[in-house]
Amino acid sequence: MKFELIKLSYAPDALEPVISKKTIEFHHGKHLLAYVNKLNELIAGTEFEGAALIDIVKGADGAVFNNAGQVLNHELYLTQFSPRGGGQPTGQLAEAIDREWGSFESFKKVFEDSGVGLFGSGWVWLAKDKAGKLQITKEPNAGNPVTKGLTPILGFDVWEHAYYLDFQNRRADHLKELWRIVDWNVADERYMI
Ligand code: MN
Repeated sequence: MKFELIKLSYAPDALEPVISKKTIEFHHGKHLLAYVNKLNELIAGTEFEGAALIDIVKGADGAVFNNAGQVLNHELYLTQFSPRGGGQPTGQLAEAIDREWGSFESFKKVFEDSGVGLFGSGWVWLAKDKAGKLQITKEPNAGNPVTKGLTPILGFDVWEHAYYLDFQNRRADHLKELWRIVDWNVADERYMI
């Protein structure tokens, strides 16, 4: 079965003014669609045809890794936002954040700084190890913490296509705004897996 473009649970303009309708339409409808189509094209007739996305990301390299990684990354990214998002994590995820960074505010600062400090294109992730201990990872290009045996909880895309139409070169301002639309229910569920 071929990979398909995920459907969004919100309207393209629902995340405004944090992420504009135009950015969502390009990011989901053009960039992610291109990764999905390219991945399907690349894996046809190979050992990866029919494999689970996460197993392709863990097992592939080169162009297959890049496109599979970007499909996985964007599926995690686009499903972690909600027009009713914002606020703070709760329960065990909130406790784990406090254990690692002292407070939610401190965590946000380190996470934003990690995204700002990532040179070029890539992702900043909140991820957990098998014991539930959290860490922030900076991944270049299509990277995802699953390749390090970690489970991704939250990811901010710092490729320019994620923010350039709305914020131009102001990556830091974009990252700071994203907290307003994070659906912590989704992150809490990913933490509890
Ligand atoms: Mn992107």
